[in-house]
Amino acid sequence: MADETAGDVAVKDKNACRNAPCTCPVEKGEKFCSVHCQSTEHNVQIDCDCGHDTCKGDF
Ligand SMILES: [Zn+2]
Ligand SMILES: [Zn+2]
Repeated sequence: MADETAGDVAVKDKNACRNAPCTCPVEKGEKFCSVHCQSTEHNVQIDCDCGHDTCKGDF
């Protein structure tokens, strides 16, 4: 029942990856910065392995 058109959902940055530890920006309308992050949607991760240099979730 998620309304993906809502503009005021209480998430972190509006255009940040939905993978919890990931800090990467995503394209407008996208949820994840990478296939890796998309694969974690139902599988909570402690760190992020998306591989982006700017990601602060990669330990
Ligand atoms: Zn990441
Ligand atoms: Zn990501």
